[in-house]
Amino acid sequence: MPETKKMLILAGDGIGPEVMGEVRRVMDWLEKSRSVIFEVEEDKVGGAAFDAHGDPLTDDTLAKAKAADAVLLGAVGGPQWDDAPFDKRPEAGLLRLRKELGLFANLRPALVFEALAEASTLRAEVVAGLDIMIVRELTGGIYFGDPRGVETLADGSRRGVNTEVYSTTEIQRLARVGFDLARRRKGRVCSVDKANVLESSILWREEVQKLGDSEYPDVELSHMYVDNCAMQMIRNPSDFDVIITTNLFGDILSDEASMLTGSLGMLPSACLGAPDGAGRRAAVYEPVHGSAPDIAGMGMANPLAALLSFAMALRYSLDMAGEAELIERATEKVLDGGLRTADIMQPGKAKVSTSVMGESIIRALDKDEQAA
Ligand code: NAD
Repeated sequence: MPETKKMLILAGDGIGPEVMGEVRRVMDWLEKSRSVIFEVEEDKVGGAAFDAHGDPLTDDTLAKAKAADAVLLGAVGGPQWDDAPFDKRPEAGLLRLRKELGLFANLRPALVFEALAEASTLRAEVVAGLDIMIVRELTGGIYFGDPRGVETLADGSRRGVNTEVYSTTEIQRLARVGFDLARRRKGRVCSVDKANVLESSILWREEVQKLGDSEYPDVELSHMYVDNCAMQMIRNPSDFDVIITTNLFGDILSDEASMLTGSLGMLPSACLGAPDGAGRRAAVYEPVHGSAPDIAGMGMANPLAALLSFAMALRYSLDMAGEAELIERATEKVLDGGLRTADIMQPGKAKVSTSVMGESIIRALDKDEQAA
């Protein structure tokens, strides 16, 4: 009996629907060639939902997201919603989705495909073999801590305050995600903090170490100050396996890591919640890029970030790691074959549209299947 996986697709705005269209094709391919049925619901989010319902994320959509095994999101936003009320902006829909699903761990892989190594701002030999997974804490830390705000002092000057705050529970649940991932990868975790200056980081380091010693003695754990990590990521990026870190540090480091790999159009991501009694986690998978209004509707968008995000869903939510590898291998083959969307175009390569890139992935999947 084929297994049924409940999926919610929220294509969103701009290039979202275009790239998600290619994801649908790969889902159809998997249904035909593997023992799986994707029970897919599609709904609106962001600007599209605001236009339809006056709300960037309706309660009904949220209920569907809660019921799904995984949510696949395209992108939200665009200049046409610049004047929407602050709490009805397209991005507010995304933030509410993350909050209501309790998505506390943001996974941002930075992986260099050999064919694109030249596109990195670093020398190809430095980024060769680079495969980092950054696990960023997403719902705590200085972005949410109290006290916060700007006050006017008695002398008329002003003072701005934010507070970095982490509890043992928040640290441990995030670290656990990193340790579990490391077990499926190269078995190494680097925990990044600023324990030479911040008390909250001292606690972070102690709690991560405690968890590592007690539950993950098989995983190699190291600690690094964030300033050093920012340097090492440029100097020797292929030394890293899994990096776990706070909200603020992860925000910065994940953007730094993404630039090592070349283009926004290649970068997938996932946001995970806590496992329920059955071990099932709420999860949203989405490309790192936005809605790219400048190229929306032109058939130019690179669908690979969305496809690689779907591969992450297969691996981390749907228990289909083999199928995730198929997609990653097909991506590698298509790039090796010289096909490029405009954003990753290089001299001597063939420029293709969104749909031709999607078709080429399907052909590579077919070939892989025939060879097996
Ligand atoms: P963006 O990521 O949409 O685009 C930045 C640049 O990269 C643009 O030149 C765009 O054409 C290009 N680009 C992005 N994705 C691409 C792809 N798949 N293929 C080819 N080229 C691609 O960022 P932006 O322009 O700063 O933001 C546009 C809108 O998207 C804004 O409304 C912003 O708020 C929103 N946004 C949404 C998300 C999200 O949905 N998670 C993330 C970032 C920005």
